[in-house]
Amino acid sequence: MNERADITVIGGGIIGCATAYKLSQYFPNKKILLVEKESQLAVHQTGRNSGVIHSGIYYKPGSYKAKNCVAGRRELVAFAKEHHIPHDVCGKVIVATHSSELEQLNKVFQNGIANDVEGIEIIDGKKIKAIEPCCEGIQAIWVPATGIVDFSAAARKMAELMEKRNEQNRILLNTETKRIFQEGEEEVKILTNTGEIRSQYVIICAGLQADRLAGKHITQNKVSIVGFRGDYYDLTPEAQHKVRNLIYPVPNPQFPFLGVHFTRMIHGGIECGPNAVFVFKREGYSRTSFDWKDTIEAFSFKGTWRFFLKHWRFGVDEYRGAFSKKFFLRRLQKLIPSLTMNEIIPSRCGVRAMALDENGNMLDDFKMAADRRVLHVLNSPSPAATAGLAYGNEIALRAIEDLKIQ
Ligand SMILES: Cc1cc2nc3c(=O)[nH]c(=O)nc-3n(C[C@H](O)[C@H](O)[C@H](O)COP(=O)(O)OP(=O)(O)OC[C@H]3O[C@@H](n4cnc5c(N)ncnc54)[C@H](O)[C@@H]3O)c2cc1C
Repeated sequence: MNERADITVIGGGIIGCATAYKLSQYFPNKKILLVEKESQLAVHQTGRNSGVIHSGIYYKPGSYKAKNCVAGRRELVAFAKEHHIPHDVCGKVIVATHSSELEQLNKVFQNGIANDVEGIEIIDGKKIKAIEPCCEGIQAIWVPATGIVDFSAAARKMAELMEKRNEQNRILLNTETKRIFQEGEEEVKILTNTGEIRSQYVIICAGLQADRLAGKHITQNKVSIVGFRGDYYDLTPEAQHKVRNLIYPVPNPQFPFLGVHFTRMIHGGIECGPNAVFVFKREGYSRTSFDWKDTIEAFSFKGTWRFFLKHWRFGVDEYRGAFSKKFFLRRLQKLIPSLTMNEIIPSRCGVRAMALDENGNMLDDFKMAADRRVLHVLNSPSPAATAGLAYGNEIALRAIEDLKIQ
């Protein structure tokens, strides 16, 4: 293969697909390529997440996450309606089961107000029962703007629309980017497993591989991606009546994830999870997946050890949840006490790309870095699937400004 393009987007998850789609709207006459190493789009984080359209209630007011989650959610729902992507804005409850959680519940509620999340309401135990009859809680936030969606279908539609906009645009599957060189002032050369692409501008949205494609001169060796697996259980068909829509715990502010929750999936069934355990293979989807390169890189980065030291207590609990069904069930029973061992069965998992700095801090927000004619998306954590269209637009605008796309 020898290809030429005006703009090349590397990575066919929702961020790459949304970026290519937005760029095709800004530049209908430019040739755009979307390059993905797998045989299908959206099979890593985007295709293995919880499928929840987040409202924007959790995120620090003023952050990229807050702004883009709310705007991206509204745009995603409109996009799903227009293009017949399976979705349902069914609402969710965030439930406090103990008085010690009420202060944090109220903080989340205040965040929601500051972030302009529509229709949120504090409700009591009786109202919780009216919404979710099997859930036991003392107080909750009702969040009507939350929903569920098929994120992979949304990403594929964005890519398809990009391809249709200009007959030269193409999606290249099974095409793994190996190296990227800046060739003089005018061009970037991309070496792939199937040949070479020469492109005027390149945007990299590589999710779990983002730091590797950026290289050390961009990350300055100070940021590294570490994978955290989230395991899910399914409710058996007989137990599915116990959850109507979405039930979440009050998030622990010390812990970087939202806690195990119940999610009705858009194509049927109820999932419970995910937990968060360190993985030995970034794109490995079983409890025993292992890759030497991923493991050595993770353990030779200071930030990984510092992160473990800071969060060892949670780490131990998360590992117990990964190997003990009984322990996992106990966490779920906090929200639905009547749930039994026979009613949950192990199912799939996903791996989150967590960007850590060398002090072991998680880079909590979306992050990009430009290098002459290349723009790198270094971190696109949850709710980046919800915010995909808004981030796609931010990335396109940043590329226009920093890479000077004309
Ligand atoms: C368990 C879990 C639950 C989550 N739940 C939610 C949720 O409910 N709602 C929500 O909004 N967010 C959720 N998230 C977060 C969300 O899924 C991610 O933030 C989002 O999907 C990131 O999209 P992405 O395009 O950056 O990454 P990805 O979807 O991982 O895509 C990156 C793509 O780049 C490709 N790629 C990598 N390297 C190369 C290369 N060298 N050459 C070519 N292609 C390459 C990969 O194959 C991949 O397709 C969850 C994430 C996980 C893991």
